[in-house]
Amino acid sequence: MNNAKNMFPTEELQRRNAAHHVQPFSANTELGKKGARVISNAEGVFITDTDGNQLLDAMAGLWCVNIGYGRKELADVAARQMSELPYYNTFFRTTHLPVIELSERLARLAPDDLNHVFYGSSGSEANDTNIRLVRQYWALKGKPSKQVIISRRNAYHGSTMGGASLGGMTYMHSQGGLPIPDIHHIEQPDWWSCGGAQTPEEFGKSTAKKLEDAIDFLGENRVAAFIAEPIQGAGGVIVPPATYWPEIQRICDDHEILMIVDEVICGFGRTGNWFGSQTLDIRPDIMTIAKGLSSGYQPIAGSIISDAVADVIGMDEFNHGYTYSSHPVAAAVANENVRILEEEGIVENVRKTIAPYLKDKWLTLADHPMVGEAKVVGMMGSVALTPNKDTRAPFNGEAGKVGLICREHCFEANLIMRAVGDRMVISPPLIISEEEIDLLLERASIALDKTFAYVKLHGLM
Ligand SMILES: *Cc1c(COP(=O)(O)O)cnc(C)c1O
Repeated sequence: MNNAKNMFPTEELQRRNAAHHVQPFSANTELGKKGARVISNAEGVFITDTDGNQLLDAMAGLWCVNIGYGRKELADVAARQMSELPYYNTFFRTTHLPVIELSERLARLAPDDLNHVFYGSSGSEANDTNIRLVRQYWALKGKPSKQVIISRRNAYHGSTMGGASLGGMTYMHSQGGLPIPDIHHIEQPDWWSCGGAQTPEEFGKSTAKKLEDAIDFLGENRVAAFIAEPIQGAGGVIVPPATYWPEIQRICDDHEILMIVDEVICGFGRTGNWFGSQTLDIRPDIMTIAKGLSSGYQPIAGSIISDAVADVIGMDEFNHGYTYSSHPVAAAVANENVRILEEEGIVENVRKTIAPYLKDKWLTLADHPMVGEAKVVGMMGSVALTPNKDTRAPFNGEAGKVGLICREHCFEANLIMRAVGDRMVISPPLIISEEEIDLLLERASIALDKTFAYVKLHGLM
């Protein structure tokens, strides 16, 4: 199937790769010695490497290939747009049809009065835009002291200086002098790791209350916005207790701050609705979108802003933009992707059929002796690995080691699952079938059993 594209021996490609390619989030010297897995092509929910292995991609790339691989319509739209208008900017009183159509579609799909879109090429860029947007908003409202953005520990909001600062990943902050000033982090609603003796309900509420404490501590006159993912993705698919978001919403309503909801993973059907905000009943002033917006077929992202925010921002020149803001090819491909998600009823099918099916199966993993909690919302799920379900204890030895061992066993079983510490997470393409979910679970169980055997043998329990 992949032979046409596999013209070089894998080892040769690995050697050439290591010689000149610096890879993200990798220890490149070590990676170069081991050799990277070379991916040649993909179809549906499967990716194929140059050794001919077919892996079930339970991560949809990086949480983004919502529509699945191999949709030729998207390639056709890109080719057509490239020959008509491959590029033009939107800085100097110019615009074009692809971005007009995409913006209309997004305004229609986004909840409430979220009707205006500013574009970038990545979720990180969009969150950088959001920092500028909310600070400029308050400056224009005559409250320039409102500068601080409150975020959460273990949040992921991107990898630029702004995005990584908003994020709450300490291992990212430890390199490059982050965070930038006026970003404040509060506790995350991760009951499994941080809940102690509280019930999930108590913990959800008390953790949300930390937002109010932070606003009081910093002074409401200094706080511009709160930013959060509806469900933390890269942080380990942390599903907050049901009491969390209502309390957060109340606090944002009671105080004069903007709510930025980072929908980069949760958007475009991932949770069974168009946006995670709808699933969790959140009312954002600004939403960050990327990933599923184009199903990863083109780099495109955006900030969808409310009428009220757009009115204020529109009062003055916004000194901000990227060469590739509103890129016509990316916009055309995103528009086609969202059209397909809509017209084929993919999001509806997730909500009504495929997510309930996944939930039934995924929750059975909690019966495994090494699985503590199993969580799933829509098409994102996680399991927490533990030697003791009752105490929620960590393994002996380094945190995250067992997760990595499990990830390797997944690869061996031709399954791509990601490890976040000692949690295993999934976020498969939304078009995954019931049979493919069965296969995913079969392979995940094999990997868990092998990991369990390893853990016992090596005294990590
Ligand atoms: C991936 C991600 C980002 C960053 O997007 P990039 O396109 O990688 O810059 C931001 N927020 C969330 C929630 C993400 O998952």
